[in-house]
Amino acid sequence: MAESATPTEEGAVEPERKIDYLRISVTDRCNLRCVYCMPSTGVTSMPHEEILTYEEIELFARASRLAGIKRIRITGGEPLVRKGAPDLVRMLASIDPELKLSLTTNGVLLERYAAELKDAGLRRVNVSLDSLDRETYAGITRVGKLEDALTGIERAVEAGLEPVKINVVVLKGLNDDPLGFGRLTLELPVHVRFIEYMPYFDEPGRWYVSSAETRARLAGLGELEEVESPEGWGPADYFRLPGAAGAIGFISPVSCHFCSSCNRLRLTADGKMRTCLFDLNGRDIKSEIRSGAGIERLHEIIEGELARKHEEGDRNRILAAGQVRAGDHMSRIGG
Ligand code: SAM
Ligand code: SF4
Repeated sequence: MAESATPTEEGAVEPERKIDYLRISVTDRCNLRCVYCMPSTGVTSMPHEEILTYEEIELFARASRLAGIKRIRITGGEPLVRKGAPDLVRMLASIDPELKLSLTTNGVLLERYAAELKDAGLRRVNVSLDSLDRETYAGITRVGKLEDALTGIERAVEAGLEPVKINVVVLKGLNDDPLGFGRLTLELPVHVRFIEYMPYFDEPGRWYVSSAETRARLAGLGELEEVESPEGWGPADYFRLPGAAGAIGFISPVSCHFCSSCNRLRLTADGKMRTCLFDLNGRDIKSEIRSGAGIERLHEIIEGELARKHEEGDRNRILAAGQVRAGDHMSRIGG
């Protein structure tokens, strides 16, 4: 992909970023019901035939590799509830040994799958863990047991998945005391990322806590020193507490849009390609594949969508402010 310049919304011209990261949601189903991700009434699962098969996902991934994708993250819903998740990892790993494969999971099934996933070619894992307190964890996930997630994290570390990062969505009045996670990074080489809550189906102010507030609350543990973000660690600003073994990151999609540096494409479980989390016009890849599109046609489509992402610049952040489509939950898009 050639480097060129893109006018931003404000009219400034920035060098084009390389779009080299693909997030693939492999299912909309989940074994948890996190309060910020799913409404209490639950989400109706899509019928199986609406979901891309692993073969269809692999075909799309091969085409995206031709278009310059270097890293693929498998997500969901909960990716490990879909049968044969390690098989998909193996299929994607066979595309190119240079392709870096990672997974975002709630960790509950890592006890069972961590070693198999590593063996299949997975390199790294992000585990969503919103509290270190048993009751708070159960309250946020509605049905989860903290021990399951913690055992999953242990197994991931033992299996040699490196790094293991912990994602914490900070929620006002529920888990907004970050000191326990801060202390964890003092003791263990785990990397904790605090994520700003994005209102998908609740009134916007209900749980929102800014990264600046979370950062201020960590001050009790010492001054945070900024550290360089390692390649492929996503859109977080990273810091370290004095003498800490692990890093602390802040992901701030609400207080600090990162649209102009976004390097992501997404493929939803039902086969829509999105150039933005808030994209209202996902390109229907499933219909293309099921009506005969092969790798070359898919490559052409992906290049077209990448060009569109460049043209749109950070225009989508306007949508982020208030036009999220009804029923468009994170469990469907993949985070
Ligand atoms: N089930 C897996 C998990 O929980 O890690 C993968 C899918 S989940 C949708 C992917 C990421 O999206 C998780 O880190 C989750 O915390 C985050 N997420 C879900 N809903 C969110 C929201 N409303 N605001 C911010 N992050 C959210
Ligand atoms: Fe499931 Fe992940 Fe959503 Fe929680 S955040 S409900 S674990 S998909």
